[in-house]
Amino acid sequence: MINSKPFFIELELTYRCSQQCFYCHNPPKEGNFYIANEKPKFRSTIEIKELDVNEWLLIIDQIKNMDKSYEGAMDIVITGGEALLRTDLEEILSYISRQKLRYLLLTSGEPVSDNRIKKLVESGLDRVRINLTSHKHLSDLSVLDMNIKNEILNKTNIAKKFKYFGVKLVGGNIVLTKYYLDHLEEVVDLAYKANLDWIEINPVIKVGHGYINQKYVVPDSNDEKKIHDKLNRLRSIYGEDFIQNYVDTDILYSRIPIPTNWGEIGLIVSPNGDVYPGSEATSIPLAKLGNLKTHSLIEIWSNNRLLNAIRTLSFLKEPCKSCTVKNICKGGFRFNAYILGHDLLAPDPLCPIVKNYAKGDLLSYKG
Ligand code: SF4
Repeated sequence: MINSKPFFIELELTYRCSQQCFYCHNPPKEGNFYIANEKPKFRSTIEIKELDVNEWLLIIDQIKNMDKSYEGAMDIVITGGEALLRTDLEEILSYISRQKLRYLLLTSGEPVSDNRIKKLVESGLDRVRINLTSHKHLSDLSVLDMNIKNEILNKTNIAKKFKYFGVKLVGGNIVLTKYYLDHLEEVVDLAYKANLDWIEINPVIKVGHGYINQKYVVPDSNDEKKIHDKLNRLRSIYGEDFIQNYVDTDILYSRIPIPTNWGEIGLIVSPNGDVYPGSEATSIPLAKLGNLKTHSLIEIWSNNRLLNAIRTLSFLKEPCKSCTVKNICKGGFRFNAYILGHDLLAPDPLCPIVKNYAKGDLLSYKG
């Protein structure tokens, strides 16, 4: 039985989106993760019947109940697709604010008018993170540089408006794709000059469209030194309070596994109320934990068999079972196990130890 609540509950209000990010983690329509594409595949996600506003308010009641029932701090993350496409977003935010729950809105900032921002602020919006590197205008790759420059300018101007109309904390998100690598300094500088409170520089996570398009979006491994040098330089110029996340190239290039933190960190509620243990899990039907129209959030968090198997490590097979870092890594990334190994509970097939174990070698991490 777990005593603490998740650190966050992410509400994906819709899969509809105004952008075309090649790395979007939402489940792709094709679902078969075919990756021999000749050019990046634009985002096309599954269609799903969205919960209406009253159903979301009932879920917020469940979150409030969970907040009272466990120790610790918890954030609600409002996201999508693009949450601004919900015309009832203000109603949902007002309700969360009245419940005195903390939340953060993740958005591309489009489409939004001055009037809409004012309404969002009136609804209690006080923390927002704008994606500064979405890929709406990248369809014509022949004028890529110009389009990226316009996109960066457009997004930092939108972020400035959220500040101007009274949102207390405005952050920026940079996903470091190949397309943005040579523009990193420019976007960080513009974000700083736009008076943003923080930025995050995140790697592409190879899930959803990011898996399908990995060949096009993940910077080449020979750019690794360039990435390190750029990040070090930017952190020394702008400070670590401003640049809050960074790209771990060991994870990016699969030298160490992404740990399975299902059941410890957060829960994702998809647009129809299905609950998943992580954002990558929304592409894995087997990882669905229940639906909040028929299951209670507390029941799922406390008693779900898959979550408890991951928490207790009872699912681990060799070489993970005897691995010195199993309490940190927990068998690696479930998405890799499912997509590459066709077994949700198998050891992460991209882990170097797992690869060597399959060949009969006994490489291990020194913990
Ligand atoms: S062997 Fe398993 S537990 Fe150890 S690092 Fe690899 S995936 Fe993680």
